[in-house]
Amino acid sequence: MSRGLVVDDNLDLAEDVAELVGSLGVACEVAGDAESAIQIARARHVDLAIVDLRLPGGASGVELVPRLREASPNVEIIIVTGDASVDSAAAAVRHGISAYLAKPFDVHDLLAVARRALDQARLRAERQRLADELARSEAFHRALVETIDAAILLVDDAGRVVFANRSASALVGQAAEQLGGTAFLDTFVASEDHRRTLKALREVAEGHPVREFEASLGVGPARRVVRWSVRRIEDAGPARAVVVGVELTVMLALQRRATEAEALAAVGQLTTGLAHEVRNPLNAASLQLELLSRTARKVSDVALGARLAEGAAIVKTELARLERMLNDFLSLARPRAFDLVNHDLAAVVDDVLTLEAPVAEARSVTLRTTIARGAYAVRIDESRIKQVLLNSINNALDALKVRVGGEVVVEATRVGDLVEVRVSDNGPGLPDVALDLFQPFVTTKEAGTGLGLSIVRTIVERHGGTVALVPREGGGAALRFTVQSAR
Ligand code: ADP
Repeated sequence: MSRGLVVDDNLDLAEDVAELVGSLGVACEVAGDAESAIQIARARHVDLAIVDLRLPGGASGVELVPRLREASPNVEIIIVTGDASVDSAAAAVRHGISAYLAKPFDVHDLLAVARRALDQARLRAERQRLADELARSEAFHRALVETIDAAILLVDDAGRVVFANRSASALVGQAAEQLGGTAFLDTFVASEDHRRTLKALREVAEGHPVREFEASLGVGPARRVVRWSVRRIEDAGPARAVVVGVELTVMLALQRRATEAEALAAVGQLTTGLAHEVRNPLNAASLQLELLSRTARKVSDVALGARLAEGAAIVKTELARLERMLNDFLSLARPRAFDLVNHDLAAVVDDVLTLEAPVAEARSVTLRTTIARGAYAVRIDESRIKQVLLNSINNALDALKVRVGGEVVVEATRVGDLVEVRVSDNGPGLPDVALDLFQPFVTTKEAGTGLGLSIVRTIVERHGGTVALVPREGGGAALRFTVQSAR
């Protein structure tokens, strides 16, 4: 029900008017002066106020208008006056008053004017309600678009960005305002995927409701894969399509790791079963080979003896390789619990260097560390981290096989809570092939097993660290891995 207020110092007249207006379905109150009128308008929202121009104490009804509006924002006001003048009418109009009635007024006129004002009040309230709803809905959608973890863009028919949300700007590391007007293709898609993207954009422009495709973004190690969907939209100003992108890189990496983990688990099961079976004949073959070599030395035909010895040497190398592979398999598969203990990193590294010193010496490679005793206390499973160091140093030594002046250096730096260990060599550097060298069975060596780095990664990640094999500045390669500092 609408609410009305009649303000007139002539309370009898006010009551009459209130009753008349009440016949329009308005709950009407009366006030004899400005102050009580304001009090009523503050207490409950008033839709229609009928105000006498002349109020007690020389107050003007027109002056009351802004105060009434402040108390009841959507109120419609009708000014009533006994001495209508052009000036007062002009002032009333300036204040945006709905109507101006001269006394004595005709009852029909009053009701007609009041009805019109009430309609206006209703319209105004409805407009306000819709505006509020729109603002709420817009705020809600804006929050949704800005917080969602997907890049959302609006593009025009020329493929230019009209709007970009926070995730879109994060994807390319540019402020959303800078993205406006840029070509979607150039900013968000690597050139090798331009053709595919253009095709999708064109098809949507030609009337296809939606197109989905994957495209890369960035180059080299910063390359990421994004799954895009382009959807045609109507009635969105210059925007013709909404483009939504979800980065797949992380998902793809996780998927790959899951597949690898499955493969490793399968290898593990197989290995533990087979290891025992294989080790026995392997031992027997080694022993027999040793006997064969001895017998060969005793053969009177020197040429035959030499051929036998050569054959035995080849079989010996192959057997050694088989044994190595078996051991590698086992260290991947053995589900021994991790035993994390605080250690001095230098002591651990020194142990491994002592172990590797004869191999390095035989190959005329300098093997050294810059890590000082007591410099880094780390929390590690000692034997496992030794395995990581061994594998990395062996790889470095292998890489230096044919180099003169080869050097392998083990260094460390603190990075926040972590200690980063680097094993670098000045060898030929990483192989020039697009392979994930950390995957099991990936090797470029003739007698390699391709398990060394895979073991390294498994161990480092189970320590909560990360590992990477990167080119070393000035040539060569460096294996970097992190471990936790001691607590
Ligand atoms: P393997 O040593 O049996 O080949 P790994 O998993 O240890 O298996 O290594 C995989 C591959 O990574 C190697 O075959 C080699 O191509 C490459 N690699 C590892 N370390 C280095 C290094 N320091 N320099 C150059 N290439 C390396």
